[in-house]
Amino acid sequence: MSETELSANQANQESVFARVAQFGRAALGVALDVALPPLCASCTPLGNPGGLCPACWSRVSFIAPPYCERLGIPFTYDPGPGILSMEAIADPPAYGRARAAVRYDDIARDLVHRLKYGDRLDLATSMGQWMARAGRALLDDADAVVPVPLHWRRLWGRRFNQAAALARVVAADAGVPLLTAALRRARATSQQVGLSRSARAVNVQGAFAVTPAGKAAIHGQRLVLVDDVLTSGATVDACTRVLLRAGARNVDVLVFARVVAPARVPI
Ligand SMILES: [Zn+2]
Repeated sequence: MSETELSANQANQESVFARVAQFGRAALGVALDVALPPLCASCTPLGNPGGLCPACWSRVSFIAPPYCERLGIPFTYDPGPGILSMEAIADPPAYGRARAAVRYDDIARDLVHRLKYGDRLDLATSMGQWMARAGRALLDDADAVVPVPLHWRRLWGRRFNQAAALARVVAADAGVPLLTAALRRARATSQQVGLSRSARAVNVQGAFAVTPAGKAAIHGQRLVLVDDVLTSGATVDACTRVLLRAGARNVDVLVFARVVAPARVPI
């Protein structure tokens, strides 16, 4: 399918969905997002390329240009090449550039949740491929891909690190080496959920360290740091700082989903 056919198909499905949603709310008097799970019951790995049925696939909010060259935050109109968002100018991150495949919404949350808790490990393939496409420019400039590490206690409870699973697909797709053991958690952190922006930054301070083997591997290298979700950016910023301090030349960030505030006006 061409891009145009895809977007026409998507627009059509969205309008059908909107009508159904309207009808559902009117008939039942309930919010549809409560009535319907984000991914439907027919979204199974079998017979659905990418693990999503066409209707759910069409509801994924892919991030496309125009966006802030630095942070990858989508703009509502195209201000021209190289224009930065207010956030990038007012509060520049330690990392160089950030890109995300999709907006963090109900469907993205459900995809991350299913991957994280291990009932849909197959989703890492399509999610990682969407990330590789969104981060093409970053990966073209990269020497290695580094996942954000999971604390071993969480690894134990959850079986695997979803950032590492995504990073593996991204690295293979881009033909860039993967460094899974470059970073480690120096201490456990509490969940970032529910914390303010400044509390998140404090929570991850000193939480990450570069391993001795990692230090040799990243010296002078241009890295792409991979995580599943970018919220305040505190986690990837903390990882970037330790990587740069240990001798990395440059760190860009690639995530599956990022939180995007409703309206963005470039300056
Ligand atoms: Zn579905």
